Amino acid sequence: MKVTNIYHQGKFLSENDLMPPEECCLFCRSKNKKIAAVIQKQPDVDLFECLECHAVSASRMPFKEVLDKYYSYYYDNNSSKVTMGNITKFAKHIYYGFPNNFEGKESFSILDFGGGNGSISYALAKDYLLKTCKNISISVVDYSETMRSEVPDISLKHYSSLSQIDVEKFDLVLASAIIEHFPYPKEELTKLFSLLKENGLFYARTPYVLPLLRLLKRFGIEMDFTYPGHLHDLGQDFWNNITNKLYPDENLKIIRSRPSIVETSFNQDFIKTLLAYIFKFPWYLFRRFYGYVGGWEIFIIKDSIKK
Ligand SMILES: [Zn+2]
Repeated sequence: MKVTNIYHQGKFLSENDLMPPEECCLFCRSKNKKIAAVIQKQPDVDLFECLECHAVSASRMPFKEVLDKYYSYYYDNNSSKVTMGNITKFAKHIYYGFPNNFEGKESFSILDFGGGNGSISYALAKDYLLKTCKNISISVVDYSETMRSEVPDISLKHYSSLSQIDVEKFDLVLASAIIEHFPYPKEELTKLFSLLKENGLFYARTPYVLPLLRLLKRFGIEMDFTYPGHLHDLGQDFWNNITNKLYPDENLKIIRSRPSIVETSFNQDFIKTLLAYIFKFPWYLFRRFYGYVGGWEIFIIKDSIKK
């Protein structure tokens, strides 16, 4: 039996598609790592867990052209270009995840990295931030086109890559379900933190399926890791240590670190949604001793005071 993801599907890659095996952790450069799971055989691609920063990454990365081809049909049936079933629910989730951090501001800027057409940050701005903030500018970084704003106080700008942004800093940076798609995401992550203003807010959501993958395998069920769509698996041990291990000088403070919001809605896929709630719930009882949550999310503030 095989379990797949509704937004991506794994693909077997041949030797010509793959770069040489990675020796070091792609986040902290440590060589102290262990094999965590097998993605495919001949050519072998495994999942490695770094024993220093706890990032889990594929042992071999695909060439850029292979990834471009894979993504050329990835978004075909998703008009918003967003991997989230209920955009309004998700916007509300981000707003209330940063309690008391959106007080009246004359201007508020959002960087929505990998935000598809920008519909989540637009919903966040229109339905929530406009209650207290004025002049909201949203910068969306994604391949696809950005939607148009119908509200005068909200502007939307489109960038096709993060490198196009260099001087502007942001009040809020969103990186929802995007980091795992980059073969070498440390560069992007470092840039995202550097683009935060003082007291700026950061939200990220990543897959964290390794514990589930291992559990299901014990019952003879093969879970699709959706490689090469997903190249990394970043859970609680990675995110809880990011401020100390990877970015000790950035004055980052974790507000919340927890299983991610359920990606699908009951209307869209009832069984999958129900299962997601059932699997995520025990974490609230057992915390770091429980990992069968499928995804992780983190809410961070960039502190203005040096530690
Ligand atoms: Zn590492």
